[in-house]
Order: sequence, then structure tokens, then C-alpha cells
Amino acid sequence: MILDQFSLAGKVAIVTGSNTGLGQGICRAYVEAGAKVVGVSRRPSTETAEMLGDENFYNVIADLSSCDVIPKVINETLAKYGRIDILVNNAGIIKRQDSIEFSEENWDSVMNVNLKTVFFLTQAVAQQFLKQQSGGKIINIASMLSYQGGIRVPSYTASKSAIKGVTMTLSNEWAKYGININGIAPGYMATNNTQALRQDEDRSADILARIPAGRWGTPADLEGAAVFLASSASDYVNGFTIAVDGGWLGR
Ligand code: NAP
Repeated sequence: MILDQFSLAGKVAIVTGSNTGLGQGICRAYVEAGAKVVGVSRRPSTETAEMLGDENFYNVIADLSSCDVIPKVINETLAKYGRIDILVNNAGIIKRQDSIEFSEENWDSVMNVNLKTVFFLTQAVAQQFLKQQSGGKIINIASMLSYQGGIRVPSYTASKSAIKGVTMTLSNEWAKYGININGIAPGYMATNNTQALRQDEDRSADILARIPAGRWGTPADLEGAAVFLASSASDYVNGFTIAVDGGWLGR
């Protein structure tokens, strides 16, 4: 049955940024699809844990601005569930400042969370896939700014453009091990990440007018693509970043 290919029954997924927004939605979708989920967050994912229950969700507290926490994420996941099948690199930050005065701190903080830790956590999980001889699924949350320049967000654009490129590099090296690494580029979604943008009446109106679907996206809008790329339904999809954007990129 085709729908069986979308099942995540028996799978163990790590989802970073599990306390809110798109990450919380992905955790919920994976549990609904049958997976056990390890959510990684720097603050406790209390709401997500209450929503999903202790039998389905385990929270690792870790600040992903440093790679030092990677062994803790891997070790706690293995101690709890014994294996890893899926990684979603969702945690991300954005800093807005005019590029003419953009600070080194705003550059480094974004690049560390959105790119450096993503790469080395991905490497550690791929090493575990090789140990398990299981293959696995890795999903990087990219952005419209993997394709476009944006305004006042140079480090975010650099990180999200890079993550789309690195997704292709790793796919070229790891597809032969049965590891599928792909990206999802969300359009403009109503989460904390875009709160400042949505509160800016002019920018918000400009953005909305340009979205063919005529509305901001929601975490639920991302769930289908996230389940697809984590499931065997996508076994021959490699190195590609799928836009879930209400048509934004087509304009
Ligand atoms: P969000 O609500 O701000 O969620 C971001 C998540 O990342 C939060 O759980 C946040 O934790 C976590 N995080 C940030 N820094 C962290 C760190 N150092 N260590 C651990 N966790 C950290 O925004 P979102 O919209 O759901 O964003 C999720 C992903 O989608 C991000 O990669 C974002 O760039 C991407 N994205 C979003 C949009 C959009 O329109 N919303 C569009 C394109 C791409 P805290 O709550 O503790 O900060």
C-alpha cells in the first residue's frame, strides 16, 4: 500500500528546535506517523512533551550554538532508544541589522547555529547510520533565502544558502550508503522567527501581497513534506531542497 511507505513506525527521529514553531509541528507529525522523537532544545520543550506524551517524546536540553553538545545529543538518544533513523536540523536563528553596520556577533551567532553545528551534528548522525548499517534520513530546514538575497539578514542568507549547497555535497557522498539528505525551504511562516516581520506593517503587507496562496504558512503546512522526506516514500530523492512556500518562489 502506498500509504505504508509514509509510515515512520519503529523509527527514531532527532528534531532540533523542538519547543516551538516548525520544529514542534514536525515532532507532532512524526509521532502521529509512528516514530519516537528526541527533541533537542535549549529551553525545556514542556509544551511539546505534554502534547506528545513521555512514551513518544524525549527532550535533550542542549544549546546548539556550540558543537560541544553533539556527543550529549547522540549519547542521550542512543541511551533512550538505542538507534537513530532520522535527523531534522530545524533549530535556527535570524539577526536583522543593516549590512553596512552588521556586527561580527550577529554573523557568528547565526552561522554557528544555522550552519556549523548543523554540519557537525549531521556528520555525527551519519557516522551512527554507518555503524548501524541502516542508512537513514536527514532533513535540513533551509529558507527562501537559500534562493534569494533577503534584506538586512546577511548572515541568515549566507547560512541558508550554504545549507542548501552542503545538502547536495553530502548527498553526493552518502547516497551510496542509503542515506537520503534533503532540505525543506519554508516560505513565510507564522512563527517566532517572523514575529518582527509580521509586526512591521509595511513589510508584512508587501510579503503577503507577493504570496500567491494569499496567506502566511503555518507549522502544519510543513508536516507533509517533513514526513515524506523522513519516510521510505522518498528513498530515491537525494540532495534536493523542496520549497513549501505558497508559491512564493514562482513569482
Ligand atoms: P522559531 O519559532 O524561532 O523556532 C526556532 C527554534 O530553534 C526554536 O525552538 C529555538 O529555541 C531553536 N533554537 C534557536 N537557537 C538555538 C540554540 N542555540 N540551541 C538550541 N535550539 C535553538 O522559528 P521557526 O520559524 O519555527 O524556525 C524553524 C526553522 O525554520 C529555522 O531554521 C528557521 O530559520 C527556518 N525557517 C523559518 C521560516 C519562517 O517563516 N518561520 C522560513 C524559512 C525558514 P528557542 O525557542 O529557545 O529560541
